[in-house]
Amino acid sequence: MNQMSLQNSSWTYLIRSFRAIVFAALPGLLCAQGTRLEMPKNKYAVEDDVKLGREAAAQAEKEFPLLRDSEIESYVNDVGQRIVSAIPAEFRQSQFHYTFKVVNAGEINAFALPGGPMFVNRGMIEAAKTEGEMAGVMGHEISHVVLRHATAQATEAQKFQIGSILGQIAGGVIGGGLGDIIGMGSQIGFGAGALKYSRKYESQADILGAQLIARIGYDPRDLANMFRTIQGQGGRGAPEWLSSHPDPGKRYERIEQEAKLLRVDSSRARDNATFRRIQQRLRAMPAPPKGRQPGQGQRQPTDEGTYSGRVEPPSSSYRQVQTNRVQLGVPDNWREFRGETGLTYVPEGAYGERGLTHGVLFGTERVSSSNLRQATEQYLESLLQGNPHLRQQSSSQNARIGGRSGLATRLAGRSPVTGRTEVVTVLTSPLGNGELFYFASVVPEEESRSYDPVFQRILNSLRFAR
Ligand SMILES: [Zn+2]
Repeated sequence: MNQMSLQNSSWTYLIRSFRAIVFAALPGLLCAQGTRLEMPKNKYAVEDDVKLGREAAAQAEKEFPLLRDSEIESYVNDVGQRIVSAIPAEFRQSQFHYTFKVVNAGEINAFALPGGPMFVNRGMIEAAKTEGEMAGVMGHEISHVVLRHATAQATEAQKFQIGSILGQIAGGVIGGGLGDIIGMGSQIGFGAGALKYSRKYESQADILGAQLIARIGYDPRDLANMFRTIQGQGGRGAPEWLSSHPDPGKRYERIEQEAKLLRVDSSRARDNATFRRIQQRLRAMPAPPKGRQPGQGQRQPTDEGTYSGRVEPPSSSYRQVQTNRVQLGVPDNWREFRGETGLTYVPEGAYGERGLTHGVLFGTERVSSSNLRQATEQYLESLLQGNPHLRQQSSSQNARIGGRSGLATRLAGRSPVTGRTEVVTVLTSPLGNGELFYFASVVPEEESRSYDPVFQRILNSLRFAR
């Protein structure tokens, strides 16, 4: 057996050496192809990517306002399908189905889901300076799909995690924005596997992305240019896409280096006339609606949030807030942060880069069990993973939430922000279709007596949409 594998690896080595010789002898071939990438290790089936992406896409279509304009849609789809046509044969998956939808949102964002569904924000198309820049971002996103980075990352993560990681990805993938609710990183609200790719995968997506667009006639440097364009935009939405696609280090240099290895197929090049017309068409349209949009409201707490030590008391007047799932009332002076899977309301002085110290958050989470207790355990597990200072205080109790049956669970622990004991009460109720509604309140224990009536009033006002 040992000898067998030894032979195998020698054989592989031989083939590799042979390949190296061939490439060295045929520089033209190498130039056309660029750096050779290998498919990352992945223990999941290709169908798992497809299933994950399909579920997440259904969720995205429910939650994000799509721009239903056939001219713009078919334009973006056309650019997308041309990029797809450039995927090297060895990386093609017959089960993958690449689709392109435009989201009517002004933030500079785009995300592609495992198996192929891709969503491009209107803001991304408007911000790009050329069609090549737009294609660069799309090529980068498509490369994450091609290389199956979502499940490859889960394959690596699983060495350290237990539980249903696939469910966590489905929730996290949607995030696109992922730094999510308050960019709180691992704090309350998105313990659930926010999908931010590793530097290694970012670098692979840059390289393959550059190769794909070069093959269909764009300058591969356009990918680097788009990163510059996004960075140069400033403003709140701008860093969003960048934060979920972190710089693997020397990003521009690496793309430029790859560009030198690539021969652009200029016979397939296009001018920017159509792109300009599409941009004009978008700019002539009404501004994007307010509401849940990818990348919206992900303000950087490092700029804005402070733990002043003095938390503004809740106003006695409440305002109504509504999502497509619930409506409820929150104190008028609480600040709203919208994430991809939920909303957070916090008083001034109670939030910052390490999360919130007072407030409520609610939203939906994908779960793999239809049993409420099991689904709740799954959710709590991911929440506790992201908030290791908390411990579950007792088993979950039956509770009512918005007129429905649910479970209430109390968590507590020493807050890394305040150094005081923090109490987190989590209510969960099933929504069907593999979704769990959660509502959580957060408060330092010694202030819970004054905040409990506030939380109660919010809960009493909660109604589920039909
Ligand atoms: Zn990326």
